[in-house]
Amino acid sequence: MISLAILAKYNLTRTLSVRLPSIKRLAGDLCDQSDREGWAARQLLERLFEQEMAEREVRRFERHRAASGLSPDKRLSSFDFSAVPTVSRARIMALTEGHEWLDRGTNLLAFGPPGSGKSHLLSGIGHALIDAGKRVLFMRCSDLVQRLQAARRDLRMPQELTKLDCFDLLVLDDLSYVRRDQAETSVLFELIAERYERKSIAITANTPFSQWGDVFVDPAMTLAAIDRLVHHATILEMNTESYRRRNAEQKQRRLPKNGIRE
Ligand code: ADP
Ligand code: MG
Repeated sequence: MISLAILAKYNLTRTLSVRLPSIKRLAGDLCDQSDREGWAARQLLERLFEQEMAEREVRRFERHRAASGLSPDKRLSSFDFSAVPTVSRARIMALTEGHEWLDRGTNLLAFGPPGSGKSHLLSGIGHALIDAGKRVLFMRCSDLVQRLQAARRDLRMPQELTKLDCFDLLVLDDLSYVRRDQAETSVLFELIAERYERKSIAITANTPFSQWGDVFVDPAMTLAAIDRLVHHATILEMNTESYRRRNAEQKQRRLPKNGIRE
């Protein structure tokens, strides 16, 4: 039997506390229980390390979710698929259950007018992928462009691209709001080219490809970016009415004629 006294004698609980917080927290109670119930040393050690490994896994998921930039409440469970007839739940679930598309660097492109649920849907997919152990980063496309521009100015572009490589899926929200006159957008092309056929990118956009000329530096770069993005891609057309507006209209309809609730 390993008792708490033995662990204390060799100062093990303190040593273990550095990288094994669950063992540190549980060692006292489990050693007491072990002494009381006469566990074999193997059983005590198994219990301690099983607990450490399980909690370590939970901490890892929490870290990944916190670093993902995903809104906590935009999950697939709160996404109403009936509002978007062009996107089937089965198709989306297949993307969250099988991950070969991420291994192949397949992209995901969601098109639709403002309010059609693009960000919510991709955020929900992101959460489901994190639940499955994948790494996801969700960013406004314009914020990422700024981040990459800063990196280029500081001659850190390769390092920045390598940092983004740890994410299996990079969600670039609202590509249409990036304007080439806003700043140099060739960094966005560089990112797309760098991840091509290796790592997946998901994009939401209010505008069809025909208007992406406003985003990239020149027509050749626009074409080259679109070509790389669509070569291996799942495209979600979400041409529905704004969910926000529909919701507001429904609420309005429920109000009495004078517009004031009793
Ligand atoms: P978009 O990115 O297309 O502009 P959002 O995803 O931001 O649209 O959706 C606008 C709002 O409506 C958000 O609060 C979102 O949660 C909600 N919403 C949109 N579509 C749906 C849906 N199908 N089910 C549930 N909520 C939705
Ligand atoms: Mg959006």
